[in-house]
Amino acid sequence: MTASQLGIYVWAIGVVAWFVIRYPYARKARRTRTVRVHGWSRERILLVVAGFGLVVVPVLWLATGWPRGLDHELSYAAIVVGAAVYLLSLWLFRRSHKDLGRQWSASLEIRESHRIVREGVYSRIRHPMYASFWLWALAQALLLPNTMAAMSGLVAIGILFFTRIDFEERMLLEAFGEDYRTYMRETNRLIPGIY
Ligand code: SAH
Repeated sequence: MTASQLGIYVWAIGVVAWFVIRYPYARKARRTRTVRVHGWSRERILLVVAGFGLVVVPVLWLATGWPRGLDHELSYAAIVVGAAVYLLSLWLFRRSHKDLGRQWSASLEIRESHRIVREGVYSRIRHPMYASFWLWALAQALLLPNTMAAMSGLVAIGILFFTRIDFEERMLLEAFGEDYRTYMRETNRLIPGIY
């Protein structure tokens, strides 16, 4: 097996693992009542963009080989680092689902009896699930031997994150006021102590 093939396999296993982790939470969430939905159409578009960058663009490249001019060689070092980043991403993804529990939703919503989660992976950063998305996109950039398929995840998560983040924090401030403001003062968005 070439390094490029190995990179693609590792990437694909990670994508499947991501859906396996999410599935039970997505199922359970269907039964959790929502009291407020924010920016429904904007959020739909952002989810489609994320799906394109993380899955559809790489799969189209795999299926068609286009654009061949952007193919590149992978090193085994990139695969090892990519796999490690992927594992970290999946661990954080699973932890944040567990800690966020019934407050989770794929788009911006306030659930019935919603509470602010401040424990577990939420104790130092406010957006561990988005941090796991960034790590996923970074792993994709390291593991796919085609520049378009490799970079599409980072572009999509950049669009999702930077468009959504202010709306999300404003929504939580509006719903929880001083509680969320205090939590904001005590934590960073993505990287403990830095951002
Ligand atoms: N931004 C978070 C959560 C993503 S899921 C993360 O990256 O980990 C999106 C939903 O989570 C939003 O609809 C919002 O209502 C909810 N949410 C975000 N932060 C929260 C928190 N600290 N406590 C409770 N709910 C939160």
